[in-house]
Amino acid sequence: MKLDVDVLRYLSKDDFRVLTAVEMGMRNHEIVPSELIDRIACLKHGGTYKVLKNLLKHKLLHHDSSKYDGFRLTYLGYDFLAIKTMVSRGIFTGVGRQIGVGKESDIFEVVKEDGTVLAMKLHRLGRVSFRAVKSKRDYLRHRSSYNWLYLSRLAALKEFAFMKALEEHGFPVPNAVDCNRHCVIMSLVHGYPLVQVKQLQNSDAIFETILGLVVRMAEHGLIHCDFNEFNIMIDDDEKITMIDFPQMVSVSHRNAKMYFDRDVECIFKFFKKRFNLSLQENEDESDDSEVDSDEECRPQFSEIKKVSGFLDKELEASGFTGKDQEDIERFIVEDVEEDSDSGAEGTEDEEYNADSTNESNIKDFDSVCSLKKEEDSTPDCEDRQIEHEAVEE
Ligand code: ADP
Ligand code: MG
Repeated sequence: MKLDVDVLRYLSKDDFRVLTAVEMGMRNHEIVPSELIDRIACLKHGGTYKVLKNLLKHKLLHHDSSKYDGFRLTYLGYDFLAIKTMVSRGIFTGVGRQIGVGKESDIFEVVKEDGTVLAMKLHRLGRVSFRAVKSKRDYLRHRSSYNWLYLSRLAALKEFAFMKALEEHGFPVPNAVDCNRHCVIMSLVHGYPLVQVKQLQNSDAIFETILGLVVRMAEHGLIHCDFNEFNIMIDDDEKITMIDFPQMVSVSHRNAKMYFDRDVECIFKFFKKRFNLSLQENEDESDDSEVDSDEECRPQFSEIKKVSGFLDKELEASGFTGKDQEDIERFIVEDVEEDSDSGAEGTEDEEYNADSTNESNIKDFDSVCSLKKEEDSTPDCEDRQIEHEAVEE
């Protein structure tokens, strides 16, 4: 998806006011009636209509007149709202090239005032799993229409909360910087997804480290649920960083063992295939009797000793509640269950293709667009409040 942030520079306070009015209207409207937008935005002399036209021109809104005259946000419109908030908070001043396109996200470099480069992940729930979301409309009832807004926001909040908690407990994850709407800002990992690495100096040691992380997370009450070569980054010094947390579950989840085993299996499978992992050595150390299969080398879920149920406190501190977890599990986690039994995000080819088809959208970092920090002009609307009202109503 193209994210042309140059447009941001030309948007006025009124533009953002109206854009936010549409966001607020989407609390209970699939398509927000134009009059309602006008009432929320409260611009003088019918100014709203002129602004709506401008926002439409820049593809920040979608116009729909099938039932009545109204508008809804596009992903781009939502991106701009989040970016604007981050810039107002002083989190970054410019947006650079796209560095990743995941199954349900777009990742960009952003730059701070002092030149530090961070990563911005924009969640796009519903891009792939729309089918699943649709099939769960029961849950969303009349709210099905804007589920992508709510779910993307929830995914971002969850990712932020988990990343922060994991970081606090010494796990190798990016530093969680901030979160707003569907957008998470984190430190940039200077490395590559393991899937792109053809050779390792110390493949056996790396394997042990990675497997150790799955076990240690479980000891702390957590399972990653998408732990594979796409979500493990490695740098030139062969230092590992785990990423991508929206689908994590607790070890008390009803399918915890299945998820744990699947994460472990993904790692075994990948290392055996790519690096000819020599399991024999491990077997020899622990047991010199002949082992028919390597099954016995797998860490066993039933043998995990829980260190503490650490997360609840930390997660709630980031604003992620048990209720949020329930909500998101209904979508993301069950979706993963329905998806496949592989746990991987797609074949390597798919991943590469996804990247290459996106290449034309990538801006050089030279052309980073500097964004002016402006006083926030949006109507008084607290994100979290919208989200909760949307669901609890
Ligand atoms: P998804 O949930 O869509 O799979 P990921 O979080 O796995 O998204 O990110 C997709 C890709 O973006 C990763 O494979 C990686 O190449 C890149 N990426 C994600 N986070 C970072 C980061 N903090 N630093 C550098 N690259 C990142
Ligand atoms: Mg991923």
